[in-house]
Amino acid sequence: MSTDPDVNKRIVILGGGTAGWITANALIDRWGDKGIDITLVESPDIGTVGVGEGSTPQLKVFLDSIGVKESEWMPECKATYKNGISFANWSTKPGFERYFHPFASQSDRFTTTAFFFNTLARRQGVDVHAHPDRFHLAARLAENRQGPKPDENFPFVVDYGYHFDARLVGQYLGGVARARGVKHLEARVLQVNQAGDGDIASLSAEDGRLIEADFFIDCSGFRGALIQKTLDVPFLSFSDNLFNDSAVVLPTAQVQDIGSQTVSTALKYGWAWEIPLTHRIGNGYVYSSAFCSADDAEKELRGVLGLLDSNVEARHLKMKVGRLANHWHRNCLAVGLSQGFIEPLEASALALIELSAAMISDQMPATREDMDIVARRFNDWFSYRWDRIIDFLKLHYVLSRRDDSDFWKDNRSPETVPERLRELLELWRYRPPSFRDFHQIEEIFPAASYQYVLYGMGFRPDPAAHERRLDDQVAAIGCFRTAEELALKYLRGLPSNRELIEHFATRGLKRN
Ligand SMILES: Cc1cc2nc3c(=O)[nH]c(=O)nc-3n(C[C@H](O)[C@H](O)[C@H](O)COP(=O)(O)OP(=O)(O)OC[C@H]3O[C@@H](n4cnc5c(N)ncnc54)[C@H](O)[C@@H]3O)c2cc1C
Repeated sequence: MSTDPDVNKRIVILGGGTAGWITANALIDRWGDKGIDITLVESPDIGTVGVGEGSTPQLKVFLDSIGVKESEWMPECKATYKNGISFANWSTKPGFERYFHPFASQSDRFTTTAFFFNTLARRQGVDVHAHPDRFHLAARLAENRQGPKPDENFPFVVDYGYHFDARLVGQYLGGVARARGVKHLEARVLQVNQAGDGDIASLSAEDGRLIEADFFIDCSGFRGALIQKTLDVPFLSFSDNLFNDSAVVLPTAQVQDIGSQTVSTALKYGWAWEIPLTHRIGNGYVYSSAFCSADDAEKELRGVLGLLDSNVEARHLKMKVGRLANHWHRNCLAVGLSQGFIEPLEASALALIELSAAMISDQMPATREDMDIVARRFNDWFSYRWDRIIDFLKLHYVLSRRDDSDFWKDNRSPETVPERLRELLELWRYRPPSFRDFHQIEEIFPAASYQYVLYGMGFRPDPAAHERRLDDQVAAIGCFRTAEELALKYLRGLPSNRELIEHFATRGLKRN
C-alpha cells in the first residue's frame, strides 16, 4: 500500500451513478487528508442507469467502512433488509421447484455441518433431507418476512444485504462524498485528450472547461467513455454463455408485510426479479432478445404481475453482456458498468464495484511506474472475479430442467458452458465442491454458494461413484435435529422486516 503517492495528486472520476459515488467515497475516506484532490464529473442530461436495487452483504461492509449509518441512509433510500435470494421455478424436479440462496449467519455453523453431512449421505443414495432451505437461518427469516437484525443480546452475527432505490442511493452517497471534500462538476464531457505517451491528460467539457488530472476513473456506465472509446481496451463478450441482454422494468405497490428476500422467478425466456422496497416493489424481467421480443417480454411480465390491463408504464433496457479484457489500462481504471455487465441474477455488480473501490483505495500507486504493476495485479484479480461469476450464474441454467423454450434448452448445450465450470461439474459427480476449487481470499461466491444451488436444484450424482462411510449420515441426522431446534429458537428473537425498518422512526438509533 502506498502512503504518499507522488503522481496521483489529482483524480478525476467520470460518472455519478452508484459506481462513481461509491468510488469517490472510498477514495476520500482513505486519501482525503493526504493532499489528494478528487473531482467527480457527471452529466445530469445523460443521467444514470437507475436500476440495481439489491445488494450482497458487501454493501454493508463498504458502508460500515466509510461510517455511513443505516439509521441515516436507509430511510432516505427507501431501503429494506435482505436475507438472500429465493429461486422459484428454476428447477422442475419435484421437491426442488424452489430454493433459497442464503446470506450466512454465525448460527449456520451448526446447521451447515448437518447440511453438508446430509448432502454427502444423499450422494451415496441415502434418502435424507438435503434441501438447503431447512438448514439456514436466513431462509427461515425470509420465509417469515423477518428482518436479519436481532436484539443486542442475540449471540450470533447475521449477515445481510439490502434492497433500495438505486437512484436515491447514488444521490445519498453523492451528498456524503461532497460533504467530505469530493469536488463535483456537472458537465458533459465531449472529448478526451491524450498525452504523447497515450495516457489520458484531460477531459474537455461541453461548456468549454478543461478538466485535467493524473489518474482517471471511468464510471461512465455502458458508454465506457474513457477506457473503451478512448483507450480502445477490447470488450470480451459473454453472450455465448449468458444469453440475457435485455430487461423490462415495472413497479408495483408495496404490501403491509414487507418481504425480506429478493425473489427470482424463472419465466419462459429468462427470469423476473421481485425486490421489496419501503414504498414499492421493484419488478423486472431479464430476458434474451435472441429468443423473445421486447413486446412479448413486457406482456409476459404484465401477465405474471396481473398488470395486463394496467397503464403503468414499463421501462425497457438493453445491456451489453461481457467485460473488458483489462479493467485498468494506462492511467485509467474502469469501475461499474464501464467494467462490464452480467445479468443481475445474484446482485453481483455492486459487490464488484465495492471491491474495485476498496482495491484502488488500498493499492493507490505511488509513481507512474508503480501504476503499471498495480494495474496488472488489479486486472488479474478482477478478470478472475468476473469469470467466476459467469461460472456461478451459468450453473443456475445448466442445472435447470426447464424445456418450455429453446432459451432453456440452448442454455444447457455443452458448448455454452464455460470450460472451467464444465470441469467442475464433472469433478462434482465424484465429490462435493470444496474450498480448494476456489482460490481467492475474497471469493464472491465460495464453494458453499455452489452447494446451495446444486442441492437446491436437486443435483444428485450417481451413488456408485462414492465411497464415504454411511455412519456419517447417522451423525448427520442427530446433528440436523439439534440444529433445526436451535434455528427455530433463534427465529423467535427476530423482528419482522417492517418492524425493523420502522424502528428508525419509532425507537431511534439503537440498532445502529
Ligand atoms: C436491468 C438491470 C438490473 C440490475 N440489477 C442489479 C442488482 O440488483 N444489483 C446490483 O448490484 N446491480 C444491478 N445492476 C447493475 C447496477 O445497476 C450497476 O452496476 C450500477 O448502477 C452502477 O452503474 P454505473 O454507475 O456504472 O453506471 P450509470 O448509473 O449508468 O452511471 C453513469 C454515469 O456516467 C455519466 N456519464 C456518462 N457519459 C458521460 C459524459 N460523456 N460526460 C459526463 N458524464 C457522463 C452519467 O451522467 C452517469 O452519471 C443492474 C443493472 C441492470 C441493467
